[in-house]
Amino acid sequence: MVIIKETPYKMAGRMYHIEDSLISVGGHNSEKVIFGEKFQIIGGPCTIENRKQMLETAKSVKASGATVLRGGAFKPRTSPYSFQGLGEEGLKYLSEAKALTGLPTVSEIMDSSQLAMFEDVDILQVGSKNMQNFSLLKALAKSNKPILLKHSFGCTLEEFLLSAEYILANGNPNVILCERGIRTFETATRFSLDLSLIPLIRELSHLPIIVDPSHSSGISSLVKPVSKAATVIGAQGLMIEVHDNPCEALCDGPQAVSYKDFENIVKSCEELLPFAHQTKNPFLGN
Ligand code: PEP
Ligand code: MN
Repeated sequence: MVIIKETPYKMAGRMYHIEDSLISVGGHNSEKVIFGEKFQIIGGPCTIENRKQMLETAKSVKASGATVLRGGAFKPRTSPYSFQGLGEEGLKYLSEAKALTGLPTVSEIMDSSQLAMFEDVDILQVGSKNMQNFSLLKALAKSNKPILLKHSFGCTLEEFLLSAEYILANGNPNVILCERGIRTFETATRFSLDLSLIPLIRELSHLPIIVDPSHSSGISSLVKPVSKAATVIGAQGLMIEVHDNPCEALCDGPQAVSYKDFENIVKSCEELLPFAHQTKNPFLGN
């Protein structure tokens, strides 16, 4: 058990907020889901490529048990020459997919000037590269929409929780954390995912924590075993990239799983839920 001590993140830590936070998502033009209450599975394409792909993928992941739909419209690509996403046009297809399936949606926002375009998006994703973009965090805190905050691949856990603190301290309590691996000397996988952070985060923070096995491994065959391990170690959800034809994906194809594989992964993880580790809450002494 973690020794109870003062942490620099007062609002994200458990000391002054002992019970788990429940983050309610959607419910207006979509189904309502609650992170922290039930295991949530976010599925969908890395990047929205066209209307047909978005709608078909949405129907497929919904049928397989996804509870939230993802689709990137503004992509933070390493190279300026890579496909940058469809932007506002992509968000329109995401809205259509939401109307079609009833699934609440998540998409990455890169700049607060984009907020108006994200009106129909249920969860605003802050990507790994923007975790310490403090002016973005402060601006999104004012929006009052749930924020999916991804761990920067170059930051410590304390820095991650301090970024969550920025959002909470500026007025938005609806933060969902996402582990997606950090950069180490290992190059065999895309990033290095320290799964022991999951039970540690659950001891230190009341915020829900999910795992992204797609970006952390970068290899589609690893998505299933990593998803299973994350489920058993106590993650409160997963975010998985799905593509109808991974070989042809415009972004992150090597880590995308097919519709069939996604269905199989969801089933395996659901079967494991009764065996998931229950982290003791150090502040309740349970
Ligand atoms: C993503 O989820 O689309 C993404 C770009 O991930 P990350 O920010 O973790 O690299
Ligand atoms: Mn991706």
